[in-house]
Amino acid sequence: MEKHILSKSTFIKGLQCNKALYYHKYRRDLRDDLSAVQEAIFAQGTSVGELACELFPGGVDCTPESYFDFQAAVIRTKEEIEKGTEVIYEAAFQFNGVLAALDILVKHKDGWRAYEVKSSTSVSETYELDATIQYYAITNSGIDLKDISIVHINNQYVKNGPIDVHELFAIVSVKDRVLELFPGIPNQVSALKQVLKLPEAPEREIGPHCSSPYTCDFAGHCWKDVPSYSVFNIANLRAGKKFDLLEKNAVHFEDIPDDYPLNDKQWMQVQSELNNEIFIDEKQIRNFVSNLNYPLYHLDFETFQAAVPIYDGSRPYQQLVFQYSLHIEHKDGTIEHKEFLAESSGEDPRLKFIEQLIKDCTGTGDVIVYNVGFERGKLRDLIQFSPQHEAPIQKIIDRLKDIMIPFQKRWYYTPEMQGSYSIKKVLPALVPSLSYSDLNIQEGGTASSTFSQMAQGIFNGDVEQTRNDLLEYCKLDTLAMVKILEVLRGV
Ligand code: SF4
Repeated sequence: MEKHILSKSTFIKGLQCNKALYYHKYRRDLRDDLSAVQEAIFAQGTSVGELACELFPGGVDCTPESYFDFQAAVIRTKEEIEKGTEVIYEAAFQFNGVLAALDILVKHKDGWRAYEVKSSTSVSETYELDATIQYYAITNSGIDLKDISIVHINNQYVKNGPIDVHELFAIVSVKDRVLELFPGIPNQVSALKQVLKLPEAPEREIGPHCSSPYTCDFAGHCWKDVPSYSVFNIANLRAGKKFDLLEKNAVHFEDIPDDYPLNDKQWMQVQSELNNEIFIDEKQIRNFVSNLNYPLYHLDFETFQAAVPIYDGSRPYQQLVFQYSLHIEHKDGTIEHKEFLAESSGEDPRLKFIEQLIKDCTGTGDVIVYNVGFERGKLRDLIQFSPQHEAPIQKIIDRLKDIMIPFQKRWYYTPEMQGSYSIKKVLPALVPSLSYSDLNIQEGGTASSTFSQMAQGIFNGDVEQTRNDLLEYCKLDTLAMVKILEVLRGV
């Protein structure tokens, strides 16, 4: 059998950008490396797909032995159908050079139904298009599909005992939408095939399509001429305006026309960068600092989430606390450090977290956090989880104060913040001697996916070393808050 030219994913890629399709086929060397967080997302997608097979147990798996041998899977699928097999996983079909590897194909009483599994929590337009190209290859291979559905995670499911796949997954028929999109497919397929016959990559400028519907894996190559700090980093500037400035050859701050419609805060960011200017609203900052009640409890939470809930009483993708760091700063300048990191044994971390947090936060001073909405939301979740701890948790909530406000409101702004008020930008701007760059774990996403793997028992690294790395990372977050406040006090 002749090898396929397009697959479901290259079809979607090609519709997003012709050049991306061409690069994917002929210039893989230009592709960006996968981050550890992206790899964890792919791994999660695979395990969700395997779990969804339990919706229709006892099927035959037609996954090819090699990723490059889908033709064998097409032949095997045909044989299984002829044999009378009623449930097929990774059923593969090929028509007009288009390969469709469908997650689950089931023969119900009224005929064949197709199921495509997604680890997200809703049906998107891209999934409908994705189902349409599957439908195109399957029906043209002679299978009369009665229905085609997206199987996605039901985020309202609450685990109680073993996972109930019929509750965990929602099955949504997309056949009506597929039939609407279907007439456009033959032309789209032939246009993309033409792209692959071109002697060199088609011209395509960078644009909003580089990140929609998916972040393109050739961005590192195509965006290499855009400086790391440019108009694309202007805070709260709509994508349309950013690309408008790009078209006007004004990607560098110095090229932005004087009359360009930016708001005051955006101009402040531009002026700060061009003139190396620091903006400080002394009155507001003095006011903020003088309203703090000591001792100060600088507190930071880390959370993780899993598509398939691990603990009873938790939902898919629910952000669960597993770690905190606490620096207690007394009026006389003395500082204590306390911390919590859940066991990575598979035990629900929440109860121990609550008990130790309540003990460590005993007192009356303000609880200082960076981005209060996050910690407040997690504390409220903990009340729901353990209503008997409502009173002491509510006391902590009532003591919360947000040290992000002076930066969010631009009462303190330096060019090094580059338009951001994230602690990862504010810390090096205010306290250059303290940096995340020396740590093995440098940002929350890595901390979260690392602990998630540990909790699910799929972590392959050095557990002891990694637990130390997690402690170091979270400790720096609250030490950063102590040091940032020191600078604010100095204003
Ligand atoms: S980065 Fe943008 S322009 Fe380049 S291949 Fe990807 S989508 Fe196309």
